[in-house]
Amino acid sequence: MNYKKLSTTNILKVYNWLLIDQCYLCHAPSSKTLCSFCSSGFHYNRLACPLCQRPIKQFDDAICGQCQVSAPPYDVCLAPLCFEGLTQHLIHAIKFQQQAQFIRPLIQLLCEALNEHYGATHAWPTQIIFVPSHPTRIKERGFCQTQKMASELYQTLLLQLGQQAPHYSKQSPIKKTSNTPAQHTLSKKKRIENQKGVYCVEGGIAAHVALFDDVMTSGSTLESCTKLLKKAGAKQVDIWVIARTPDKSN
Ligand SMILES: [Zn+2]
Ligand SMILES: [Zn+2]
Repeated sequence: MNYKKLSTTNILKVYNWLLIDQCYLCHAPSSKTLCSFCSSGFHYNRLACPLCQRPIKQFDDAICGQCQVSAPPYDVCLAPLCFEGLTQHLIHAIKFQQQAQFIRPLIQLLCEALNEHYGATHAWPTQIIFVPSHPTRIKERGFCQTQKMASELYQTLLLQLGQQAPHYSKQSPIKKTSNTPAQHTLSKKKRIENQKGVYCVEGGIAAHVALFDDVMTSGSTLESCTKLLKKAGAKQVDIWVIARTPDKSN
């Protein structure tokens, strides 16, 4: 018997049956990662400030109040989903219940937004850098969710873009130097104070980088990391996040 042939064809059949022809969330037959029913359950961040992607209520391209007062230090911000409903549920399940299987559908949705933005008109960044959790939190949870997500993001872009895919290292050049209270428990002012001296950058930084995080809340973490990356040599920093929350004060 030709075991080689048997194993590869059977494994491929099982793989196709398990993963490719099913929706990742509800397991209904689907040629895409998500069936149309599950895709419709996400709240897309369509009404947002063009600079910082903060969800806004107007139906025009109005820049939000905060960006009018002071423009963000990053150059591009892409945040396809609102942090609520199904998105919030899946990200919490990944973070607190180790349900890593939900990373793929969220990263697929982010990649769709990235392809729509960069397409043939904008140059892709040449390096993906993720915002890491503190070593203590990683130890508590057993993994760093942003690193897992960034790895999935890199693998997906590698399949789509081949040689054009940005470089990626599992060791983020951004290091967290002190443990801080969870950002969502603090006011905007406290959050900014809280960021001072929390992160540092070690290692080579490309001229055009993509800075990845799972959720963008006030934006203060990503703003301080952008400033550090620019100090370390980046000329352009593009923010890539799965979801954006509106400010508490909005
Ligand atoms: Zn589904
Ligand atoms: Zn804004």
